[in-house]
Amino acid sequence: MSNYDFGPDERLILAKIDFGIPKRRCAKAAYGAVEEYLAALMYNGQISADYLIQERPRYVAYVQAADDKALEPTHLSPWGQKGSEMSLSAFGHRPKFVLLEPPLNSRGLSWRSAKTLFLHTHIFKSGSPVGSPELQGAVPVYHLPLSHQDRDYLVRWAREYRDHDSIWLGCGRLEVPAYREMADPRSKLSREGREHCRIIEKTTGIPTYYYLFRYHGRLKEKLRRCPLCGGAWRVPSPKGVTKFSQFAFRCKPCRLVSNMASSLGDEEDERLAAIGEPRPSMRRKQRG
Ligand SMILES: [Zn+2]
Repeated sequence: MSNYDFGPDERLILAKIDFGIPKRRCAKAAYGAVEEYLAALMYNGQISADYLIQERPRYVAYVQAADDKALEPTHLSPWGQKGSEMSLSAFGHRPKFVLLEPPLNSRGLSWRSAKTLFLHTHIFKSGSPVGSPELQGAVPVYHLPLSHQDRDYLVRWAREYRDHDSIWLGCGRLEVPAYREMADPRSKLSREGREHCRIIEKTTGIPTYYYLFRYHGRLKEKLRRCPLCGGAWRVPSPKGVTKFSQFAFRCKPCRLVSNMASSLGDEEDERLAAIGEPRPSMRRKQRG
């Protein structure tokens, strides 16, 4: 199983947003309105980070909506409403949208029916970083009962995480520092991610886990302990599929899940395996 199999299953829907033809002497304002409107949708979790804009003969944008209701005006944040107002004055009307391929059962998953949530994204994802093992899919960020500012921070965090993953995958000079940010639960990126989990859990009342990336490991990878508390955290291999069986490790008190390393035993793995393991002082304590 690759590390990229763990992210929430996204069900993004391709949509076209039609802004129209700018009014006379409104070319600059029109461009600004389009940028503003799309950025506001993205940072509220209504569309993914990838979108395309065509400027002539009329302004249209192709976006990936989080679900079939995501573009409805009732879901706009105050920033999105401002973008809508700017569009009204630059184009003479508000943006209109059409779903290009409306799928069956495209309703976004509601966090209310989840028993647990987890936070995880990677370079090949562009939508919500919040998933639920029970629902087997991503929960659109705009559905979560967070403040608009917390949604904005969460979407920005997901973007930063993907940037780190991209640098790691590129194997350049920053490969190891980027890996450390994703694989060490005490790194800045992980601490921020865990703080997002805490806020999501506080507002939804649903236990929310942070997914800790793991690539370099040891031959006795099964014996790895929780890097935060040093406790046993192996998820027992189930006969059937259980809710958390996709994660090899879960520590309930630390709200951490992780996977088995996929690269084991060579010199580099041995050197980097300590990232994401308990600190040596903690290991001594357990033995003694
Ligand atoms: Zn722990």
